[in-house]
Amino acid sequence: MSLRFFDEVDNGKRIFQGSVHSYLHGLPNASQPTAVRCLEIAIKEKYRREENEEPSDNLKNLIDWSGDHLGAYTEIQQGLRLMRNYIHENKLVKEVDALESIRHTAEFLNKLFPPPQEEVEYEHNCLYCESSFMGTRKPKELILGYEMEKKCTNCNKINGYRFLGSSW
Ligand SMILES: [Zn+2]
Repeated sequence: MSLRFFDEVDNGKRIFQGSVHSYLHGLPNASQPTAVRCLEIAIKEKYRREENEEPSDNLKNLIDWSGDHLGAYTEIQQGLRLMRNYIHENKLVKEVDALESIRHTAEFLNKLFPPPQEEVEYEHNCLYCESSFMGTRKPKELILGYEMEKKCTNCNKINGYRFLGSSW
C-alpha cells in the first residue's frame, strides 16, 4: 500500500516514512521538517516534468508555482506556507502540529501525483492466521490515518488496519 509519490520520486517513500516514524516515536521536531522536505522534493519533481528545467531551491517560490500551475488548492497551500514558516523558527513543534503536517503533506502529494481513481486489487496479510488474501483498495483509503476492516478469507477473523503512509 503506498502513495503514488513513492513510485514517482526517488527516495520519496523513505523520506516520508522518516517523518511518520519520527512522529510515532514522539519526535515531532524531527517529523515536521521531514514532512516539509517531502513536499519540497515532490514540487521540484513536478516542476521538472512540467517546465522542463531545474527548479529553484526557494520553497516559497515553489509553493507559489504549485498553486499557479496545479489549480486552486488554496487551503493546502496556506497550510504549506505555515509549515514552511515553522521550520525557520525556534519554537518547538507540538505533536498535534506534526501530525497535521503529515496529513497536509499526504494530501498535497496526492494532488501532485494523483492516485488511480479506480479500485485496485492488493494483498492483505492476516494478523491471526498469517495467510494472505486479496482485497480491493479505493483512492480515499490512501489518506493517512484511514482505518478499515477486512475479514480474512481463511480464518474469518476481522483484521483492523490503519494506513500510516507506507503500510497497513
Ligand atoms: Zn486469517
